[in-house]
Amino acid sequence: MAGSKITKELQRDRKGPLKGVPVSAGFGQGYAYYLREGIGFSEIYFREAGNVETEISRFEEAVNQSEQQVLRVCHYVEAELSMDEMAIFQAYLMFLKDGGLKSKVIANIRGGHVAEYALKEVILNYLKTFARIEDPYIRQRGMDVENIGKRILRNLLGLGDGETGVFERDTILIASSLSPAELIRARQEKLRGIILSKGGETSHVAILSRSFEIPMVINIPGLPEKIRENDFLIMDGNSGLVYHNPSEVIVREYQRLEEERTRQDKSLDAIRTLPAETRDGFTVRLGANIGILSDMLLVERYGVDHIGLYRTEFPFLARDGFPTEEEQASLYRRILEAARGKEVTIRTLDVGGDKFLSYLDYPKEENPYLGWRSIRVSLEMKDVFREQIRAILRASAYGRTKILFPMISSVSEIKEIIAIIKEEKGNLKARGISFDDAMQTGILAEVPAALIILDRLLPYVDFISIGTNDLVQYVLAVDRNNPKVASIYNPLHPAVISLIANAAELCRKYNKPLVICGEAAANIRCAYLYLGMEIEGLSMNAASAPMIKNMIRSANLHDARQALQQVLAMEDSESIGNFLDNVVP
Ligand code: PEP
Ligand code: MG
Repeated sequence: MAGSKITKELQRDRKGPLKGVPVSAGFGQGYAYYLREGIGFSEIYFREAGNVETEISRFEEAVNQSEQQVLRVCHYVEAELSMDEMAIFQAYLMFLKDGGLKSKVIANIRGGHVAEYALKEVILNYLKTFARIEDPYIRQRGMDVENIGKRILRNLLGLGDGETGVFERDTILIASSLSPAELIRARQEKLRGIILSKGGETSHVAILSRSFEIPMVINIPGLPEKIRENDFLIMDGNSGLVYHNPSEVIVREYQRLEEERTRQDKSLDAIRTLPAETRDGFTVRLGANIGILSDMLLVERYGVDHIGLYRTEFPFLARDGFPTEEEQASLYRRILEAARGKEVTIRTLDVGGDKFLSYLDYPKEENPYLGWRSIRVSLEMKDVFREQIRAILRASAYGRTKILFPMISSVSEIKEIIAIIKEEKGNLKARGISFDDAMQTGILAEVPAALIILDRLLPYVDFISIGTNDLVQYVLAVDRNNPKVASIYNPLHPAVISLIANAAELCRKYNKPLVICGEAAANIRCAYLYLGMEIEGLSMNAASAPMIKNMIRSANLHDARQALQQVLAMEDSESIGNFLDNVVP
C-alpha cells in the first residue's frame, strides 16, 4: 500500500516524528485540537453576583451560544439520523428556549448569585424532579437537562463547545481516549484525523473511524507535552507516524504519497464489479461491516455483495435515550432501502465492554468485557430487546434481512431468543404489521464456548458468523483495548486458527453458511487461511474489500487449502506469519 512504506525523505526529517500504532488508514493534515475535558456542576461553588445586570447578560449570551452550537450539530448529523433521532436535538432546543429555565436562573441571579451558581441550582432542582418520576423514559430525559445545563455552563466559563463544535479549518483531533459516542459527535467535514494516547486496534472507536474513513493513530503517550494546540500536523494512519510542524520536504512527500494512493485506488477500482473468485472458480461473498446509514455510500463505492454486519449500537450511542420501536424500524428500513436488494445482517444491541450508553446505569465492573455486556444486557432488559426485535422484523418487509445475536455462549440463550422472536412475530401479526416470516437467525460466535459447543448450537440457527475481534481476546485472554498486551493479540495464533477451522468444517457438515466478520477478515494473511477453509463469506470495513478481492482473484483454492493444512501443524504465530508472507498471493 502506498503509505505504508517510510521513504528515505521521511526518514531524513531531523526532528523525528512521533510513533504510534496505526488503526485507521489514510493520511491526515491539519491543526491540532485537543478534545476539551468535561466539566461538571460539582466544581461550581457559591459566589455573590458583583453586578446583577452583567450576570444576567452573561447568562443570556451563554444560552444564545448554546442554541447556535446545537443548531450546528443538528446540521452535521441531519444526513445520517432519521427524523425521529433528530428529535433529541429539537428537545434540546426547546429546553433552551424554555422561558421556565431562563426565568428561574434570572430570579436566582437577582437573589444575589453569580450566573454559574444560579444555573447550577436550577439544573440540580430539575434533576431531582426528574429522578422522582416513575416512567423510565421521562426519567431519562433528565440526561437531556443535565447535558444542556453543562453546555450553558461551558459557555459561561468561556470554555467553548464541549462537543468540539464546528472546525473552521482542517483539524486533527487529539485526546487521551475517545468513546464511540464522542467520535460520532466529533465527526464532521474538516476533521482530518484523530490521535489518541491510549486505545486498541480492535476497539470500537478504531472500528468506527475505519468505517468513517478517518485516519487514526493510537498509543502515543504524553501527547500534551509533545504537541501544542494549533501545531500543524501530518498524521499517517498507515505507518502510525505523526509529524508536528513538519518541514517542506515532509509536506511534499505526503502529497506525493497521496497521489500514489489515488492511483492505486483507481487500479483496484477496475475490479470493483468483478466477483471475489479464485482462479480455480471458488467464490467468496465479500461483505461490509457498517455502523451508520452513511456507511452505505462506502458499500456502493467499494463494491461488496452484502452487509455482513450492521452494528446497531452506534445509533443508540448518538442519542440520549433508547430509540423507540418506531424510530428503530424507520432507521433499519432506511438501511435496507439503501442496500438496494443486497442482504443485510442486523446485529442486535452489543453494549458494554467499551461501548456505554450515557443513559443506561452500568454496574461497576472490574472486567467489563467479561461482564454485563451484549446479549446479557438484552436478555435482562427484555423490553428494550423485544422492541429491537420487533423493529428488525418490521424492517425485514423492506429488504433481505438476517438477524444476528452477539456474544452467545450457551444453547439456553439461543432457545430463549427463539421463543422471544416467535412471540414478537405473533404480536406483530396481531397488530397487522407485515414482516418477513422466514427471516434467518444467526449467532455471532465470538466467545470460545460457542465454538466449542457449535455442534449443539447449529441445529437452532440458520447461519453462523465469527467475530474474530472478541474471539481473539477471549481465546488468548488479551484485552483488545490494552496497549500493554497488544503485541500478543494475534488472530494468527494457532489456537484461534484451529478453532475457526473446526467451526468451518462443522458448518459444512450441517450445511449452515459461515461468515467471518471481525477485523481479521480484512487481514490479507488471515483471509487467505479463511479461503483455505472454504468459508462462504468475509465481511469487513468496506474500504479493505478491494484489496482482499484482489488477493482472492489471484489465489487458487487448491493452494490455499494446502497452505491451511501446513499452518494447522505449526507451533506459533511467528512461524505462521512468516510462512504466509511467502505464500499469500
Ligand atoms: C467481533 O467481535 O469480531 C465483532 C464483529 O464484533 P465487535 O467488534 O463489534 O465486538
Ligand atoms: Mg464482538
